[in-house]
Amino acid sequence: YSTFSGVPEAPKDPILGLNELFREDPSPLKVNLGVGAYRTEENRPYVLGVVKRVEQELANNPNTLHEYLPIEGLPEFRSLSARLVFGERSPALKEQRVVSLQSLSGTGSLRLVAEFLSKFYQRGAVCYLPRPTWGNHWNIFPAAGIKCREYRYYSDETHEVDIIGLLDDLTAAPSGSIVLLHACAHNPTGADPSMTQWQEILDVIRKKQHFPLFDCAYQGFASGSFERDAAAVRLFERATVPASEADGARERPMEMAVTQSFAKNMGLYGERVGAAHIVCAAPAVTQAVLSQMKQIARGLYSSPPAHGATIAARILKDRALFAEWETEVHVMSSRILRMRRELFEALHENKTPGNWEHILSQIGMFSFLGLSAEQCLYLREKYHIYMTTNGRISMAGLTSDKVQYLADAIRDAVV
Ligand code: PMP
Repeated sequence: YSTFSGVPEAPKDPILGLNELFREDPSPLKVNLGVGAYRTEENRPYVLGVVKRVEQELANNPNTLHEYLPIEGLPEFRSLSARLVFGERSPALKEQRVVSLQSLSGTGSLRLVAEFLSKFYQRGAVCYLPRPTWGNHWNIFPAAGIKCREYRYYSDETHEVDIIGLLDDLTAAPSGSIVLLHACAHNPTGADPSMTQWQEILDVIRKKQHFPLFDCAYQGFASGSFERDAAAVRLFERATVPASEADGARERPMEMAVTQSFAKNMGLYGERVGAAHIVCAAPAVTQAVLSQMKQIARGLYSSPPAHGATIAARILKDRALFAEWETEVHVMSSRILRMRRELFEALHENKTPGNWEHILSQIGMFSFLGLSAEQCLYLREKYHIYMTTNGRISMAGLTSDKVQYLADAIRDAVV
């Protein structure tokens, strides 16, 4: 007998559980299209050249220590990561209205923001998540005591953003709701709003006085350009909302939060490098906000890890290293785009029924093929092809030598 005899087993994480199944599969044919980590054309994990060099430099430097970082993280990393996402000419940064903390990659940063909002944002506010979304969002917000609901995001028919459903749902949501948005390369669908659609989303959020929270996990990975992939965040950051009478002004800057991950764009997955940014309407409140965020972080993990953030800060600070990084991000995003093209062409050539254009129009690491759960399981059992049962494949896990095999298997699954 144990005190824990009554503990029921939790379901496997749908993404990480898939990896376990893949590892256990002895077939030489097996292909892992489940997990979202970049692989080279040889299907190997990739350490960026620029990261390797900075690591060597750090290893050889006698001043490299393993002391604790401050609760809020490495100062240079905090400011440089904010500059990467908000841009050189960000009004919020210039006006010192942004509170930035280094946190534990994207997930830890989301949790930190969720805990802060749960404590200090409007009591009982609901967080609206896109349907579908990255599954972990459904763990993070409820764990912080924030209830979640869905807004329509994606149309299975058009394979595009369901902009009408999205705008309707955000209009119907109670004023002041938290709205989670994927900054770019929406996971799992790979469908992003156009800039015109982002403007429409912004208009509804302004009108309803919602609180936007951008999850930015793929900056640079979607288009190969850091600027383009941050365009939605910057559009919102520069927006204003009608002020209340008490403010004595007609408009005030919009308040929002951004969480940032360097897992994908620097390939620092296991180092847990990320940041949480709260954009405030006035600089006067930032000190109190920072102090509360620090108190939450202290209770959760005390201080963030130093190694990865030190690497990231070096790359973000040095012009030459930054340029090298940009080139490598471009190489990674180009390989993903090439895989999209090759898969599309193979499906076209083997005459797989259906329209597969969305594989080309989707963006980022993932493609949402539009397969049913049964078809996904069929591919797993018969062909040892592993993907989440929503039909999402990681393009970064695909290599040229597997494209034909995958395309023929898909044809078999859909006919
Ligand atoms: N948000 C989204 C949408 C993601 O896809 C991911 C990575 N899978 C994350 C956040 C966070 O990942 P990490 O904690 O590894 O940075």
